Amino acid sequence: VPADTAANAEGISHTLNLYGGRKAPLPLNILLVGCGLGGLAAAHCLSQAGHKVTLFESAPAIGEVGAGIQVTPNVSRLLIRWGLGSQLEQIAVRPEAIAFRRYSTGERVGYGRWGEQMEQDHGAPYCHIHRADFHKLLFDLAKDQIDLRLNSTVTHVEPGTDSVSITLHTGETFTGDLLVGADGVKSLIRTVVLGKPTEAEPTGDAAYRAVIPTEIMEKDPDLKPFVDTPEMTGWMAPGRHIMAYNIRAKKLYNLVLLHPDDGSVESWTAEGSADKMRSDFADFEPRIRKLLDFVSSTLKWRLMDRKPLDNWVHECGRIVLLGDACHPMLPYRAQGAAMAIEDAAVLGNLFSHVSSQSQVKPLLHAYMSLRLKRTADTQASSRLNQHIFHLPDGPEQQTRDEAMKKAMRAELK
Ligand code: FAD
Repeated sequence: VPADTAANAEGISHTLNLYGGRKAPLPLNILLVGCGLGGLAAAHCLSQAGHKVTLFESAPAIGEVGAGIQVTPNVSRLLIRWGLGSQLEQIAVRPEAIAFRRYSTGERVGYGRWGEQMEQDHGAPYCHIHRADFHKLLFDLAKDQIDLRLNSTVTHVEPGTDSVSITLHTGETFTGDLLVGADGVKSLIRTVVLGKPTEAEPTGDAAYRAVIPTEIMEKDPDLKPFVDTPEMTGWMAPGRHIMAYNIRAKKLYNLVLLHPDDGSVESWTAEGSADKMRSDFADFEPRIRKLLDFVSSTLKWRLMDRKPLDNWVHECGRIVLLGDACHPMLPYRAQGAAMAIEDAAVLGNLFSHVSSQSQVKPLLHAYMSLRLKRTADTQASSRLNQHIFHLPDGPEQQTRDEAMKKAMRAELK
């Protein structure tokens, strides 16, 4: 079903529950590539497990572009466990509900209570956060425990049975006991692990992203309710959908607009045309058209995923993948960063046990086998939501809407 939050919240490996700040008997020298959300979470978890972590990042400065991100209970639970509960509270908006609407009329076809209910059901909140705030939260958590090297693009990897070495674009080399590739969808480390370049695949969809100051919305009686009652709203249409929610203490309204890819690029910073965006969604209900009139600039991003890999560990047993490097997925269940952060928690937990060099390889295989099915299932269910959200108008769409309405009536009883 769309917005399958129950599945988002459950299913974390039981090993996460046992992690209690244990330090590994054998501290390792770990080279970590990529300072995205996954890399930062891994930096925290591995250094908490007692290891020396050097984090290499191509970018010259730290930060995240983009707009909002959904932090589902499987992740907020980890953040709270890492001592970030009160900071999370400060930067997050907690949606009270989710509503699905028909694109052309705005008719509500689906509804689920979140808020307190989410915490009762899953023991942790559903949060909407600005990406930059989320990145800073994890960066501040990790920064004092690691050696961070910005402006450091890894260009070469030399696998070995006793150690692994990397070379940067500057020619500098570093050697460690373990190399973790959290280097995103275009991962170099994945090429090394698989022994050949394998590109992620275009999904056929692209995303426009935009934020609107809510003070403008509050002046319009049609739009004010979207701010007064912070629901997440999804509008489903043939081949397209929109997800929208409040971030930054309800000061900004975040819009993600998904549509068929017509030649975008894979870059968080690529500008899209706001006018083209408006014409791509011109057949949506009047409130959407009003909202889009407020957008002066937009970012546009080609959505990539890939079939699940069957291996994340290099044969030398000292190189492993994490996050989008090994399981990029459509954002249609809001689980890409979530899976990367879960990966990090499992990896850190397992490596808090390491007491000899001979355990490195089996622990990497244990990590992979704990994570492979969950991430592959999540990739598949994200693809399934592409089908469900984007049904063409007709009998299948009517059946979907009727089923959602029935569930909504039960929810609202
Ligand atoms: P990345 O964030 O891609 O980080 C990789 C890092 O590695 C980058 O900083 C890069 O500069 C660096 N790097 C790459 N190569 C090298 C190299 N050779 N040397 C040094 N550094 C290198 N997920 C959610 O959980 N919830 C959501 O609501 C959500 N919404 C989304 C909405 C959209 C429109 C999109 C596109 C994605 C969304 N996601 C969401 C998915 C999420 O953004 C990604 O899954 C997540 O950011 C991946 O994190 P990562 O750390 O694995 O990789």
